[in-house]
Amino acid sequence: MAEEATLVIIKPDAIQRGLTGAVLSRFDPLRLDVIGVKAVRVSQELAESHYHHLREKPFFREIVDYLQGRLHGTNYVLAFVFWGENAIEGVRQVTGATHPEKAEPTSIRGSLGRMMTSGLMENVVHASSDRSEAEREIALWFKPHELLRPVSRGAAGLPAAPSAAQAGAQRAAGAKRSK
Ligand code: GDP
Repeated sequence: MAEEATLVIIKPDAIQRGLTGAVLSRFDPLRLDVIGVKAVRVSQELAESHYHHLREKPFFREIVDYLQGRLHGTNYVLAFVFWGENAIEGVRQVTGATHPEKAEPTSIRGSLGRMMTSGLMENVVHASSDRSEAEREIALWFKPHELLRPVSRGAAGLPAAPSAAQAGAQRAAGAKRSK
């Protein structure tokens, strides 16, 4: 099984309810490395990009507001990149299904998530669902220098090193700036 990276976000409902430690401890048995972590004030642009695949859904505006903390009176989330063998599937299993009432009762979402009467799914945590999503999301939330190790294209698809053409262009730009 390959080592790979995955993105986890502790969502505003978990921040508001003081569940950060409870959520993180659920991942401990997976024995994954944390290679990136930060507190993020989520801009509208970031939230919309994160949920880009759901932009046509009727609940799109609601989940953008949710991720920004507008529904919970909070103004940040905690973002993590976990690294290790089978990280994506392992984290997803611990996280549980999207709908808190359909999630395994022992999973994070099944035990800590809840459906609001408004229809909002307060599901506590986000976890990338597959490699292409992990690739896109990690690049969206983290700059390469914010990660403790490069994440190879084969593992979670992040750009490990610039191509020869990009490197040439960057050198040329650097040379121009230093003049
Ligand atoms: P995830 O990968 O399990 O988080 O699921 P998705 O990427 O499909 O959905 C992103 C988020 O949108 C979920 O975590 C929920 O917060 C929310 N969501 C998904 N489906 C629905 C839905 O049918 N209704 C509402 N109100 N929210 C939803």
